[in-house]
Amino acid sequence: MAGNKTLTIIKPGAVKNRHIGGIFAKIEEAGFRVSAIKSLKLAPAEAEVFYSIHRDKPFFQELVDFMSSGPVVAAVLKKEDAVEDFRELIGSTDPAEAKEGTIRKLFAESKSHNAIHGSDSDENAENECNFFFSKKEYLEKH
Ligand code: ATP
Ligand code: MG
Repeated sequence: MAGNKTLTIIKPGAVKNRHIGGIFAKIEEAGFRVSAIKSLKLAPAEAEVFYSIHRDKPFFQELVDFMSSGPVVAAVLKKEDAVEDFRELIGSTDPAEAKEGTIRKLFAESKSHNAIHGSDSDENAENECNFFFSKKEYLEKH
């Protein structure tokens, strides 16, 4: 059965370019509820842990440097089929390939500076939500 939550991060470039409000408007219009939310700056070591699945990729260092380059906004989003529907809403990793109307098409600068993260499986969503949030930080029961 598909899960009902996913983890998103508004990445440093989109925060810097003042797209927090525009992006969350799209997220709420698409039927997601914000269940927890915070701003923070990731230490390089934290970004390494968060993206450790990509440890051996050629772009790993660039990814870690970018994700720790400035403040981000992390949030837990709730909706039926959250992971799949959110990946659809954000669009392809490379904004040049993302469909019209998707968040990355609208707000991303490039493949490496692509505005937003979305969990890619229910298992990763669970782990990523726990990476950023403790129980008492939720706006609603979960
Ligand atoms: P995210 O995990 O941030 O939601 P994604 O799931 O669409 O993105 P992944 O394959 O998990 O894509 O890659 C993680 C991130 O690494 C991408 O969002 C992008 O910023 C960066 N990245 C991926 N592929 C490349 C690449 N070929 N060159 C540069 N950066 C890349
Ligand atoms: Mg990913």
